[in-house]
Amino acid sequence: MRSFSETLALPPPDNDIRREYRQLILEIDLCVQDLTTGRLAGFCKCRPGCSACCMAFSVLPLEAALLVEALVDQAESSGRQDQRCIFLRDDLCRLYVWRPVICRTQGMALAYIDEATQTIEVSACPHNFPDDAAFEHDDLLFMDPFNERLADLNLRYCRQNSLVPERRLALADFFSWQG
Ligand code: SF4
Ligand code: SF4
Repeated sequence: MRSFSETLALPPPDNDIRREYRQLILEIDLCVQDLTTGRLAGFCKCRPGCSACCMAFSVLPLEAALLVEALVDQAESSGRQDQRCIFLRDDLCRLYVWRPVICRTQGMALAYIDEATQTIEVSACPHNFPDDAAFEHDDLLFMDPFNERLADLNLRYCRQNSLVPERRLALADFFSWQG
């Protein structure tokens, strides 16, 4: 039997942080929707049942706290699946509505600015794009501004609750085995 890990007894975020997090998620989802229905419509093969990208991710304390709340009625997990996410069930995400930022952008051509070299690094799912895909600027989902907002929200949450903001929590550790 599994139960929530005691290490995830995280305090609830305040209403301002919740509101700003929801706004962040909304903006990310809209950007993804624009790309998948627009410029990338011919490429994107993401669909229910495709779960190759659902690996054992980790999240910041703020997203861990929000996920634990969402999962409070789901004290049964799919069981540890090595490198796969524990929230997969029959290749579907059991917390799709509440999935964290890292899961919402899979499938896009994710762009990150390398400040040192002032170059753009792109990461894209091989199921959607060939290795030699040539992206135009408007094909890319620039993640740095979103990640910075998430980091700021997480910092506020952690300062309010005396938590270590850099500590990432593995989704696989959301439950602890008992018996
Ligand atoms: S939380 Fe859901 S979308 Fe994210 S990796 Fe796990 S199963 Fe996939
Ligand atoms: S990102 Fe790739 S592996 Fe994930 S759902 Fe989309 S096509 Fe499938």
